[in-house]
Amino acid sequence: MPAFNPFEMARSQFLKVAEQLELENSVREILLTPLREYNFSIPVRTDDGNFKIFRGFRVHHNDALGPCKGGLRFHPEVSIDTARAQAMWGTWKAAVADIPLGGANGGVICDPHNLSPSEQEQICRKWVRQLARDIGPKRDVISPDIMVSPQHMIWMMDEYEVLEGERRAGITAGKPVRLAGSMGKEESTGYGLVYALREVLYDMNLNPSNTTACVQGFGNVARNAIKLYHEIGGTTICVSCWDQQDQTSYAYKKESGIDLNELKRITDRFGGINKEKARDLGYEVLPGEAWIEQDVDILIPAAMENQITDDNVDIISDKVNIIAEGADGPTTPAADKKIEERGIFVLPDLLANAGGAICSYFEQIQGNINYFWPKDEVLGKLDVKMTSAYYKVSELAEKNKLYMRDSAYIIAVGRVAQACRDRGWV
Ligand code: NAD
Repeated sequence: MPAFNPFEMARSQFLKVAEQLELENSVREILLTPLREYNFSIPVRTDDGNFKIFRGFRVHHNDALGPCKGGLRFHPEVSIDTARAQAMWGTWKAAVADIPLGGANGGVICDPHNLSPSEQEQICRKWVRQLARDIGPKRDVISPDIMVSPQHMIWMMDEYEVLEGERRAGITAGKPVRLAGSMGKEESTGYGLVYALREVLYDMNLNPSNTTACVQGFGNVARNAIKLYHEIGGTTICVSCWDQQDQTSYAYKKESGIDLNELKRITDRFGGINKEKARDLGYEVLPGEAWIEQDVDILIPAAMENQITDDNVDIISDKVNIIAEGADGPTTPAADKKIEERGIFVLPDLLANAGGAICSYFEQIQGNINYFWPKDEVLGKLDVKMTSAYYKVSELAEKNKLYMRDSAYIIAVGRVAQACRDRGWV
């Protein structure tokens, strides 16, 4: 079987919409390929006195609607194609959320589990040095993605400000609140997902208190989604995560409902749950894939791309009626087709997890004006943006009898295509 390529998947999703929108060839061409790409080496002096060379990259997919913004991922398996896909999805995400930004993404092939703080700091600072001319609060704003922390974002901001000779806090998002971060940023992606999910449940006439969910992942997105989902009354019966020691994933199940805080106490900073301690707390420890086959109402994939595939889509229980995609690209096109045929309602990634991008935009604004809003204001603005984006997408889907993913794409691609035309690019 050919290896999964997220960029091929992102392109095929785009081409499907290009057909539906009957986009002219020039628009297809400019949107099918990133505007700019950067590839470079990052030499790091390791703690034992040697040098190790890491590969880094950044991709700007499209900035017709506004400056680029996008995640940075530190992961041994990250590739330029992961970044291309994420950058393209970032463009659509900003557009569907109606924020004036473009899509970017980048990464460094490394495993922070095995790097000291000083080695990680060098990676951050040297990554910025390589790109200083091509990033910035009005060019490309960096936000954290997998295994990238608020501390990494501070080192990057600091390096950029040293090079620029002035304070430019808007260069990175996801910084701690005590240093130019935005209130509510930490919660934003998970909360944003649940703001939209709340509306789906309302539209389906379902009381959240009578619903159950399974979540793949137990990192930032998953934990915050679970927190707010529980606050609105829902019950999560199973979560899964990666086990660094065993190099595999496990699912942790409690039929009566997981206790978020007790699981958080036995979770490492990478979102890995300690399985012995989980067993002691009465959780069943199951193979990783078990999260997808439970009899629940809602599935929330919030770990990685390529998780709901042709191979496992059929084990999704008939009870499931909503899939809310916290991760980017968790569902392959083949699996998506079957999900659509089964009539499961999908809150697609570009809409469901747009809360992080929206709040990064808020952080960029606050950094640029050097004035920071209270948490209620940030989360209130986020709720308004997510709720209105959800209704735009669901109303179009309802009106034109579209699958939710197609509806979201049609809105997003349509807006970006028009911006390219308006600017006279095509
Ligand atoms: P994170 O690093 O905080 O957590 C990732 C979680 O996924 C961890 O619990 C890890 O153990 C788990 N995991 C990794 N591989 C797994 C596997 N094969 N099976 C089961 N679990 C696995 O990352 P995050 O910030 O929560 O991001 C999760 C996903 O959401 C990513 O796809 C990311 O691109 C996407 N996303 C994140 C944000 C954000 O603001 N953090 C915004 C938009 C999209």
